[in-house]
Amino acid sequence: MVDIKSMTLEEMGVFFRELSEPAFRAKQVFTWLHRGARSFDEMSNLSKALRSKLAETCRITVPTVARKQSSRLDGTIKYLWELQDGNCIETVLMQYHHGNTVCISSQVGCRMGCAFCASTVAGRVRDLTPAEMLDQVLFTQLDSGREISNIVLMGIGEPLDNRDNVLKFLELVNHPDGLNIGMRHISLSTCGVIPGIEYLAQRHLQLTLSVSLHAPDSETRSRIMPVNRKYDVEELFAACHRYFEVTGRRISFEYAMIDGVNDHDWQADLIAKKLNGMPGHVNLIPLNDVVESPFKPSRRIAAFQKRLESRGVTATVRRSLGGDIDASCGQLRRKAMEEKEGKS
Ligand code: SAH
Repeated sequence: MVDIKSMTLEEMGVFFRELSEPAFRAKQVFTWLHRGARSFDEMSNLSKALRSKLAETCRITVPTVARKQSSRLDGTIKYLWELQDGNCIETVLMQYHHGNTVCISSQVGCRMGCAFCASTVAGRVRDLTPAEMLDQVLFTQLDSGREISNIVLMGIGEPLDNRDNVLKFLELVNHPDGLNIGMRHISLSTCGVIPGIEYLAQRHLQLTLSVSLHAPDSETRSRIMPVNRKYDVEELFAACHRYFEVTGRRISFEYAMIDGVNDHDWQADLIAKKLNGMPGHVNLIPLNDVVESPFKPSRRIAAFQKRLESRGVTATVRRSLGGDIDASCGQLRRKAMEEKEGKS
């Protein structure tokens, strides 16, 4: 079956030409799909004959809500979606003063192996299709009734380990006949897959790149992030400098503060040295306690922030949302998986 919602408008044009249908069909179907149509039967401006022909050859992905948790503290909503093959992924909707931001997953699970992250505990099951990423935005918006203005690719998975599908998703969600969300309202977070960063730089996309740094020295970083053994932090900083030169876009660096591991003053000094005046921004994240991990939250966040700022590096502490609903990094999916395992 053809995954029609993963097609760009151009691809759909080719598809309908091959069916000997007029070109405007592509735009009609694209518009229906991007408004959340669940079946071809809903597409009332297509002939009955065409609708049944499409239903025979194409499938329309529709996730179902497996769980939904709403925070009483700050309006955060966390969705656990069940995909058509039974796999589950998480999406988080957050309310900020500048609008509604949705945090989406890019893979079922993750194979990057970061030692402090719940998403990677059971490895990667498969990549998400462009349609499955789009669906997270679309159906979160439809279910919640809140218009989504910003997207962050910071959920489960490593976006640059699923690069081509992610780029296609960006093209879909950015399209004027679709949700039309501007690239400047989209952030992509990577654990440091250097070839992917270089590819993004070449494409000159206007999105915000976030790099999960978590340690500025190779030894610590390799200990907590296996990706560092392949793409060392020295080369990562070099790639970030090139990215900034080529795109002129500031990079934001994620830094989860771990007690006694990456919260020493010398590490703040090393960050400043490696950034070497590059305009950027360090986001200090209070570590979320993950049951499977031996790491504990740092008690030096404010001191570390001060140290960075005294060295000329802009740093903020990330406000934590949804603290009452497991709203972080694969925790809800883990919980659901454990309950399933426990039951069987
Ligand atoms: N794979 C991508 C995007 C997903 S993770 C990446 O690594 O950037 C989104 C962010 O949450 C990353 O910065 C990740 O390192 C961080 N994170 C993972 N587990 C965490 C935890 N227990 N506490 C705080 N941040 C965590």
